[in-house]
Amino acid sequence: MAISVLLVASTPEPDRTVAAAARLCYSDASAGDLVGKMKGEDISRFIDHLRGSGHLSPFEHAVFTFAVDGISRVCTHQLVRHRLASYSQQSQRYVEMKDPEAVVPPSISSNPAAREIFDRKIRESHEAYKDMIAAGIPREDARYILPHGWMTKIVVTMNARELHHFFSMRLCRRAQWEIRCLAREMLAIVRDKAPCLFSLAGPDCVVRGRCFENRPCGSPFSNVDEVLSE
Ligand SMILES: Cc1cc2nc3c(=O)[nH]c(=O)nc-3n(C[C@H](O)[C@H](O)[C@H](O)COP(=O)(O)OP(=O)(O)OC[C@H]3O[C@@H](n4cnc5c(N)ncnc54)[C@H](O)[C@@H]3O)c2cc1C
Repeated sequence: MAISVLLVASTPEPDRTVAAAARLCYSDASAGDLVGKMKGEDISRFIDHLRGSGHLSPFEHAVFTFAVDGISRVCTHQLVRHRLASYSQQSQRYVEMKDPEAVVPPSISSNPAAREIFDRKIRESHEAYKDMIAAGIPREDARYILPHGWMTKIVVTMNARELHHFFSMRLCRRAQWEIRCLAREMLAIVRDKAPCLFSLAGPDCVVRGRCFENRPCGSPFSNVDEVLSE
């Protein structure tokens, strides 16, 4: 099963909401009036101004909830390191792992010998898990035998400010392929939903024009489209 990323909920008009919240700081009108009154060009101008000046707190008013299926626990372990987000993950204590399901890294799927080893070990670990459950071991303990690449499901909610931070770290070529794949899917979705907020998003080479890593990848992206088409 390939990774699946669905936007299940979001702030209804994210660009307008963020721009109106920012505009309120400089206006004696009510925020409610501003939300309705702001025109398209005002919205994009305000958001560009916020991004350019680094005044990103209004970005926190736009929130996005994604349902993610078909990723590994390796990937969700990296994902949940991002603390300014909310998560709900399928529990291996409460849900029995009925089938042997793991994410296969491309380096392994493209190597027949490695693939054979991988599939065999996934199958064997699952058989051991099932045998332990049959012997009365609770699911929460039997799961210790399951590998790190086991497939999982997670719901994640991030606001637009945290999404920008997440994209800057996880769309960099130095991040691992699976979380980059997840980040790309999320960026494509939010760009569609909030084009002004995410017109410029991604690693520092794209957003800030240069890399700040101690060990740069040596192959910087030139724009967001290149990041998305990887
Ligand atoms: C390429 C790559 C390699 C990595 N390798 C490793 C590794 O080898 N080992 C490892 O352990 N991790 C590793 N990480 C994970 C990394 O160190 C971060 O834990 C993860 O990317 C989350 O980043 P963050 O803390 O900036 O983000 P978030 O938790 O999303 O926080 C966003 C920002 O909020 C602020 N913030 C959040 N919480 C606090 C706080 N408690 N106090 C002060 N400020 C806060 C910070 O400014 C932070 O940047 C790696 C990440 C990447 C992208």
